[in-house]
Amino acid sequence: MKYIFITGGVVSSLGKGLTSGALGALLETRQLTVKIQKFDPYLNVDPGTMSPFQHGEVYVLDDGAETDLDLGHYERFTHGKLSRFNNLTSGQVYERVLQKERRGDYLGKTVQVIPHVTNEIKDRLYAAGKECDVLITEIGGTVGDIEGLPFLEALRQFSLEVGKQNVLFIHVTLLPYLKAAGELKTKPSQQSVAKLREIGIQPDILVCRTEEPMTLDMRQKLSLFCNVEPAAVIEEMDVAHSIYELPSMLAQEGVDKLVVEKLGIDCPESDMSGWNNIVRRIISPQGGEVKIAVVGKYIDLQDAYKSIYESLAHAGVGNDCAVKVVRVDSETIEKDGAQKYLSGVNGILIPGGFGDRGIEGKILAAKYARENKIPYFGICLGMQIAVIEYARDVLGLDGANSTEFDESTKYPVITIMDEQKAIVDKGATMRLGSYECRVFEGSKASAAYGTETIRERHRHRFEYNNEYRKRLIDAGLDVGGINPKRDLVEIVEVRDHPWMVGVQFHPEFQSKPGKPHPLFCAFVEQALKNRNK
Ligand code: GLN
Repeated sequence: MKYIFITGGVVSSLGKGLTSGALGALLETRQLTVKIQKFDPYLNVDPGTMSPFQHGEVYVLDDGAETDLDLGHYERFTHGKLSRFNNLTSGQVYERVLQKERRGDYLGKTVQVIPHVTNEIKDRLYAAGKECDVLITEIGGTVGDIEGLPFLEALRQFSLEVGKQNVLFIHVTLLPYLKAAGELKTKPSQQSVAKLREIGIQPDILVCRTEEPMTLDMRQKLSLFCNVEPAAVIEEMDVAHSIYELPSMLAQEGVDKLVVEKLGIDCPESDMSGWNNIVRRIISPQGGEVKIAVVGKYIDLQDAYKSIYESLAHAGVGNDCAVKVVRVDSETIEKDGAQKYLSGVNGILIPGGFGDRGIEGKILAAKYARENKIPYFGICLGMQIAVIEYARDVLGLDGANSTEFDESTKYPVITIMDEQKAIVDKGATMRLGSYECRVFEGSKASAAYGTETIRERHRHRFEYNNEYRKRLIDAGLDVGGINPKRDLVEIVEVRDHPWMVGVQFHPEFQSKPGKPHPLFCAFVEQALKNRNK
């Protein structure tokens, strides 16, 4: 087992998660099995209850863990199966230590950060890395943060325990460009490496995020001050087109070679043909462009619908076309109507969401898609919206709603799930994770998946109300798939429409650039048809 630790210096939002993912992808092209995980020093037990304003998207794993969105990057770039054990927060560490203390497990000892907290962190490393050649662990935050210290201390101890030849430290740092001086500055990076060395960690590789190319002189300077050999000072420029260029960029800098040499791994040379093909389709797609409107309430936030945007890009790769995303704020639709923002788009997607802000705008967007026969893809809340719209405007159930937004609605076409009624805790209590769904033959979903049984990830409290099922079907809103164990409706489809599909699950958590999700692919294919009409 080999271990790679990725730390960050100088500023946050350096793209450590992407670098970790791209490095994992690169190692996979050498036929190594890779797993990537994240240690987050914040005290929340998981990010499931954090606001999108604070934290971006909550990513969901097969086992129902609500995790940091970087795990999405890991799963998109690599094939390692991730579980709740692959995202550790300080909150979880302290929760466990305190439980043990209350149970008396420490036999009366004084419970301390070293060794009790650091042991808990190391246990996770020993437990996580069983079925892979290389385990990459990204440490959230920035070196120098107080809350990150126990993690770094644990890594130092761990590297001593498993042998330094089995561990590699990669420090990702920023070289700020000073316009007035016309140069990149290395001092903040020097100081951040000095901070690491204070704790007893010497980085083996320095990945420098920069907007301008580095000179040889700067590499030598960084090498000298940071005690890293010149060949291990890596330039990581901003990508020109897409994050999926990153594996090739790192390969050009020789990162994979450095890593396998330093860790003494015996493996084949890398085969980049797969990634090269993906990048070619992104940079120069043969099929032109389609415009997809994503109608949400966090459209200004870069990361709130991360996996949705990525999955659309993957579907572009699958269809060899460019997907231009038009972000539409549902509250502006409430004010100005749908036409103003949605005319001319080739597809409309409504992603997941919670709370009643902007809901009526989303319902207007669904109505616009249905009436104008524009391909529509509703995901989780987006599916519930399609049902509400259909019930109101086609079935004529005036005021139909979800009980999430109107508890006393006369027509609760979407309603709280029975098992959710008694739950008061907000953390990790939704219907979460992967469930089986039976897709009905002849449905649009079945045409996309090409198989009868699928598994998709969930994160919701409310569901399609089966009391309205017969009436909705009779009126033309078909059921495309159900959960066979509990007869929950998981897919709805408007019969008299080229492609209006809503799914209660989150397909965006299972799409990769080399393996775009079938529903996203079908949606973009329909958008192409709409464009060509
Ligand atoms: N708020 C809705 C529910 O809880 C939808 C959730 C979602 O879109 N993830 O059912």
